[in-house]
Order: sequence, then C-alpha cells, then structure tokens
Amino acid sequence: MATYSALSRPELEALHRELVKRYDAFRDRGLKLDMSRGKPAADQFDLVKGILDVVNSESSPYASDGVDCRNYGDLDGIPECKALFCEMLGVSFDEVFICGNSSLSIMYDAIGKMILHGVREGATAWCRLPKVKFLCPAPGYDRHFAITECYGIEMIPVEMTPDGPDMDTVEKLAASDESVKGIWCVPKYSNPQGITYSDETVRRLARMKTAASDFIIMWDNAYAVHDLYPDRRDQVLNILDECKKTGDPDRVMMFASTSKITYAGSGVGAFACSPNNMKRMKKLISIQTIGFDKINMLRHARYFKNMDGIMAHMDRQAELLRPKFKAVLDAFDRELAGKGIAEWLNPNGGYFISLDVMDGCAKRVVQLCRDAGVTLTPAGASFPYGKDPRDRNIRVAPTYPTVEELTLAVDLLCICVQLAAVEKLLREQTF
Ligand code: PLP
Repeated sequence: MATYSALSRPELEALHRELVKRYDAFRDRGLKLDMSRGKPAADQFDLVKGILDVVNSESSPYASDGVDCRNYGDLDGIPECKALFCEMLGVSFDEVFICGNSSLSIMYDAIGKMILHGVREGATAWCRLPKVKFLCPAPGYDRHFAITECYGIEMIPVEMTPDGPDMDTVEKLAASDESVKGIWCVPKYSNPQGITYSDETVRRLARMKTAASDFIIMWDNAYAVHDLYPDRRDQVLNILDECKKTGDPDRVMMFASTSKITYAGSGVGAFACSPNNMKRMKKLISIQTIGFDKINMLRHARYFKNMDGIMAHMDRQAELLRPKFKAVLDAFDRELAGKGIAEWLNPNGGYFISLDVMDGCAKRVVQLCRDAGVTLTPAGASFPYGKDPRDRNIRVAPTYPTVEELTLAVDLLCICVQLAAVEKLLREQTF
C-alpha cells in the first residue's frame, strides 16, 4: 500500500468515500464506549478480593511493632507496609513514608509544601519568588500538569525520546535558569507512551548542574511493577542511589501507590526521599495529620507479604491486560501500518498506548470518535496547558473496556485516523 500522501486526488476521493461509508455504519450502531481514562477493569479487582478478608473482626489489629492499627500512631506507616514499599522503590526504612489512598494527592501536597515552606532545609518558599517554572516531559501525565498549572507554576514542555526526556534540553534549561525548580518524571512505562528511562537518562538527571539549589525531581513511579510480559520486564535505575553518588540525595522525591495493584482509590500511596528531606516532610506532615489509614496498610501487608507476592499478583493481572493491548496493537498494524499516517509504540508495561496521528489531526480524530459514540482522552491532554503543539497525540487507554468493546472502539478509531488524514490531504494538496 502506498502512503496516503503518494495518492492522487481521485484515489484520495475514492478512499474518502469508502471511509465515510464505514464511519457512517459505525455511527449508526449507536455505540457508547468510554476509553478516556486509564482505569482498571472489574476482573482485575476480582483477582485481589481476598484482601478484603485478611483483616476482619477476628484478626489481630496489631502491627508488627505492636501498634494498634485502630488507634493513632506510626505517623510514617506500619513497618510491614513500609517494608513492601522499601522493596518496591529500592529504599531503606528511614527513607519511606506511607500515606493515604492516593499518590497524586501526595504529589499535590508535596508541591504545596515547597510553595509554602520550601522542602529542603534552608530553601526559600517558592511563594516568595517572583517566578517558578517546572520542566514537563511531554507527552506526559495530564494530572501532573494540572497540579503545576493550578499552583501557578509555569510549565516548560520538554520532548520525550525513546530514552526518556530529551536530556540535552533538560540540562540546558536546568543549568541556565534559577527559576526552573523541578521536573515531572514517570520513569517506568511512562504515561502515556510506556517509555522507560535509560540508565544514562537517570544518571544525567542525578548529576546535572542546576541553577536552582533546591531543584526537585518529582519521580512518579506509578507503574513500577506493571509489566505486561514476565520475560520482558523493563528495569529503571534507582534515582535516589544515583543522587547519593553525585552528592545531592535531596534532589529527588519518589512516589508510588497500589492504586493499580489492588484498588484504584482504595490502595496505599507512599513517597520516598533522603533522610534530610524526610525529616522536614515528617515535621510538616505531623501538623497536618495524626496518621493515615493503618487498617488499609495492614490489609495490603498481610495480603501480599512481600514483593514476591506483589509480583505474582501483577503477573496474573498482566494475563488479563495482554489481550487488550494486543487487540489495539493488532488493529493499528492491520489498519494503519505503512500508510504514513500514524506512529505508535508497543510498550512492555503500563496502562496506555500512545498514538501519533498526522500533524493537525488529533483533535479531529477525537471529535469523529466522539460523534460516533467512543469517548477518548481529549486531544492535547497529555501536554502542558492541554496544548499539543503538533496536534497529533492521542492517548489510548485499553484497560477498562472488555476485549470485545475495545476491538469495536479501536476499529472505529482506525477509521477516524484514516478519515482525518484523507480530509487533511484533500484540503492541503494542490493538484
Ligand atoms: N501517577 C501516574 C503516572 C498515573 O498514571 C496515575 C493514574 O493514572 C497516578 C499517578 C494516580 O495514582 P494514585 O491513584 O495513587 O493517586
């Protein structure tokens, strides 16, 4: 098949007629599918239903350190739950803090603390500065960008490469501008591209010169254990270790949660950082709460016991997710490959497939899908301020629908990608 841009006008017009016919047939079916968010599906929850039974009226409410989980105490979490996250994040006991149900709220709160108080000892609170900027690898997680935007932090997009953010740009911006205070990172199976940062990227982030002495790497390891293929697990270097080696362990805060391991919204969230930063965070958090939900921590620790328990569970979860990713990728290969109208990545894990359509076509594709009953994440959502400079990126979230629903939705998506491309070529080509 020739690429679409090599087609003559009559060929394009014939293709347009055929695609419109297929599109109308879909629209007439009255579909109603929502693929807008990366939510787990109910069968994933069924895999962990035993977690609801490990803590009950008959079981001991005491944590391994003797603290009664029904009462106040253990501000930074119960030891057995801390042990789980220590293993997951590769940190030691005094470097991890277990919070409530959401890592996103910990990140929101951490940025808030940096603005109001400064997190590093002796750092100026950002609210006293005329301008604060953040580096935002894009496409990235829309809710990260929403946090920085809502706090009035100026976002600077940085292009993603197959190895992580474009480090030449990151280094240049971080070294040259004191108001650049940090960077958002999803180092493993990034949202939405599923890219894992290379060792070199992690090392460069750890050792780069920064004009701001309180530069912070927001290391959101949301997909730390979310491998799709047990024989192809991406590995990401431990950034805290790398920062220790370069003499600036206070440069990073790590985040993770069990939202997409157990229950989304009822999991356990945690952060990890250097003992210095931890001292300051503990002081600030002790004013905000007397403690988080230890019963839920107990549930998680008793159910999984250790990292092996988590990994065995995640491998079962991957069995449910693999056919969904395959349905999307097969359709892309069948309908879009070789036509010069779309590119995508085949990630080893995570929750998304990122599709780049022809420049200037993403909004149109999302609108066409919506008009035919399939809701996708709004075009541009994965970019700071919702602005995709090339209007080409679409985030596909395959986890929530059934394989049957997904197959239908992706068939429609592929028709829309082709239709939008043909419309653009017909508009732009001069014959
Ligand atoms: N971080 C990333 C990169 C995510 O993709 C998500 C959810 O989609 C979250 C954080 C949200 O995590 P939590 O439920 O722990 O707040």
